Amino acid sequence: MDLMYNSTRNDEERATASQAILKGLAGDGGLFVPERIPALDTPLASLAGMSYQETAYAVMKLFLTDYTEEELKYCIRSAYDEKFDTEEIAPLREEAGVYYLELFHGATIAFKDMALSILPYLMTTAARKNHEEHEIVILTATSGDTGKAALAGFADVPGTRIIVFYPKNGVSPVQEKQMVTQKGSNTCVIGIRGNFDDAQTGVKRLFSDQKLKEELLAQGFCFSSANSINIGRLVPQIVYYVYAYGQLLKKGRLQAGEPMNVVVPTGNFGNILAAFYAKNMGLPIGKLICASNENRVLYDFFQTGAYDRNREFILTSSPSMDILISSNLERLIYHAAGKNADQNASLMNQLNQTGRYTVTDEMRRAMTDFAGGYATEEQTFAEIRRVHQESGYVLDTHTAVASAVYQKNFSDGSGNVPAVIASTASPYKFARSVMTAIDSKYEEMDDFALIDELHRLSGTPIPRAIEEIRNAPVLHDTVIEKNEMEAAVKRFLKGE
Ligand SMILES: *Cc1c(COP(=O)(O)O)cnc(C)c1O
Repeated sequence: MDLMYNSTRNDEERATASQAILKGLAGDGGLFVPERIPALDTPLASLAGMSYQETAYAVMKLFLTDYTEEELKYCIRSAYDEKFDTEEIAPLREEAGVYYLELFHGATIAFKDMALSILPYLMTTAARKNHEEHEIVILTATSGDTGKAALAGFADVPGTRIIVFYPKNGVSPVQEKQMVTQKGSNTCVIGIRGNFDDAQTGVKRLFSDQKLKEELLAQGFCFSSANSINIGRLVPQIVYYVYAYGQLLKKGRLQAGEPMNVVVPTGNFGNILAAFYAKNMGLPIGKLICASNENRVLYDFFQTGAYDRNREFILTSSPSMDILISSNLERLIYHAAGKNADQNASLMNQLNQTGRYTVTDEMRRAMTDFAGGYATEEQTFAEIRRVHQESGYVLDTHTAVASAVYQKNFSDGSGNVPAVIASTASPYKFARSVMTAIDSKYEEMDDFALIDELHRLSGTPIPRAIEEIRNAPVLHDTVIEKNEMEAAVKRFLKGE
């Protein structure tokens, strides 16, 4: 019997894993969730001896049950190969008394690679299995990192095209350069005059536009999503928490069954939701610590039970977390509502209409595994400085938010329960912010001079992803208003 997925807004809409991956978003605008979270059937103690790829198979086979063993192993093998600059794929580093789970060793040096290097394989396999004849058009909104990782994954993949929308003034210089230099005749990158929430809302609107859908079907296209609302993003992200646990066992830091805490710098709530799924599979995780930057809508939510996006949108030095509508939170809300799709749909409706909703006390009790914290810009920069001074290790700004939150609110000093901090980007991707946090004398330098300086300071090699964009020509320079997204999609699909 296959594990089925249903929409968070409607129990009737059901899909197999491969169908859910193909569709991205459920027809009613809800998100696909597994009807139950499967239990990890690998003995914990044996995780210590497993490679990343073996761990990936042990986890993903439980969720993607309509893929054959051969199909899934092919996807895993193709994704987690030399595109990563280390065989460990996701190394766990101990620095200054905590563990940093480095999720930035893939092609675009941010954690999005962990899932987006496998999603194209999962999706094209799903298309084959379901006899999908239409060309798949991936529509993606990005706060900076998803866009490039999705472009890198889907560029020149036969049977697919990919369109990425990013906030023109809301990403780092390196993030923008990475995207606008993307090669591949099936790729399209568009800046919009607006913020990430505008881009994400616009993409969701395109997805739920029935008229557009039919028009494009007639032309041979169907939409799918590479955003973390796609279950094909979420499932591969569960893997590295299981792998991190195995690494702690291997280092002798834990005995099988003892808990670790995880700290996750959070934006759209995909990464930490994967940790929640890992915990519900039986992985011994104590607290799930959700770290926010100054856009602390999630922190306020965990404090009060009220989600309220009616507030100023703040541009911070951790742009991939500059988000006021965290899409994946819907999956937790659904879970906390006892899988009551009507109750969830009503809350999401309120969010749509008024920008806010409040959950019941009972729902709050179902979310006590989570704890929220936030760090200001000041605290984030101070954390980069502190860790660098204490250990020579250089954090990126997103990881520094999580690290600061942990030090400020959750470190009891005893160090009994190891803290695993999700390290979501290479500092090279945010070199300007990172270097000026360490010393204000770097303010004058240009972006690539800063990269060379970071190389000297950290002693870590300059990633290939950075070398590649140094002299790369700009291939995408379209900038549009946020209400022009539909027209832009049609133009690209017509080949204009
Ligand atoms: C996307 C991203 C985040 C936020 O992850 P979510 O899954 O959206 O919560 C944090 N840090 C970096 C560097 C990212 O790219």
